[in-house]
Amino acid sequence: MEYRNLGKSGLKISEFSFGSWVTFVNQLNEKEAMRCMEIAYERGVNFFDNAEAYASGASEVLMGKILKKLNWSRDSYIVSSKVFWGGDLPTQKGLSKKHVHDACNNALKRLQVDYLDLFFCHRPDPETPIIETVFAMNDLLSQGKIMYWGTSEWSAKEIKTAFKCASKYKLRGPSMEQPQYNLLHRDRFENEYDEIFKKYKIGSTIWSPLASGLLTGKYNNGVPSSSRFKVKGYEWLADSMDGINFDLIGKINSLAKEIGLLPSQFAILWCLMNQNVSTVILGASSSTQLKENLCAIDLKDALTLDVTDKLNNIIREGIKK
Ligand code: NDP
Repeated sequence: MEYRNLGKSGLKISEFSFGSWVTFVNQLNEKEAMRCMEIAYERGVNFFDNAEAYASGASEVLMGKILKKLNWSRDSYIVSSKVFWGGDLPTQKGLSKKHVHDACNNALKRLQVDYLDLFFCHRPDPETPIIETVFAMNDLLSQGKIMYWGTSEWSAKEIKTAFKCASKYKLRGPSMEQPQYNLLHRDRFENEYDEIFKKYKIGSTIWSPLASGLLTGKYNNGVPSSSRFKVKGYEWLADSMDGINFDLIGKINSLAKEIGLLPSQFAILWCLMNQNVSTVILGASSSTQLKENLCAIDLKDALTLDVTDKLNNIIREGIKK
């Protein structure tokens, strides 16, 4: 495993990390989730991603229980939470100073840690002035409850506003963004954020490198019976299949096989080739999937310039059709 700086910060984050969305509690019980975390850590993964919204807090409770059992030294791993969707009451959601503080304190309890390394605003909140959130995050930084704060799926304009507010009051702006980035979803990361990466040098912890599994090719002939698309409460994910070019996915999968990679490994490694990516957050509903994905780290050299040229041609042709 190699480690990248999280943007311009000094934090060294593993190129692959492991997240718990959908999987923890819904698909992985304690024993299986623990096995996955152990496998990841043994392979050098140092970042574990979570959020108050995941399984309505139960994902953080489970991860906290596992962290306690594994008893890893606290200085050897990075753990995150995210604030936005905390509950149904008006005070339990969004990015108000109150909810940012409550969400952080609740995450600390659920994860059984003294501080969060990364704390994200899970979405922008049009009903809270950005300056209020910037101040709230800086309070948590000075209280030592979080190490770095960041955004997730904020527009470039919103991120710029956060930096302007921070600069005006000599506060710290966001250190990282958590956007979706994969072969099917590139525009925001590669175009909209271009200026943000250049100007502010923020890091990125990118999500859904496999587009929820679509890039593995296993949806090319319909939804497989054991899939997150069938997990209760996540049926809406099937909407993401609308407009998907399965012919293009099939061709990308064939290119992967041609160079001796599994489609999943190819898609994950492709994300890592972008130097604005600090870490690729892997998701897995079994230890077999996780092992397969982690193995990609040893196969980085397979994505040569010749291969990326071929890939770009396939994509260009696919878009033309
Ligand atoms: P992926 O796009 O990689 O999807 C992971 C899913 O794909 C798995 O759960 C599994 O689903 C399937 N899969 C994974 N590996 C394989 C394999 N080798 N072969 C076949 N199928 C495979 O990532 P996620 O969408 O899970 O995102 C990763 C993390 O990013 C999350 O856990 C979370 O921490 C974070 N995230 C953040 C968001 C945000 O808004 N900030 C939003 C979403 C995620 P199946 O059970 O169907 O087999």
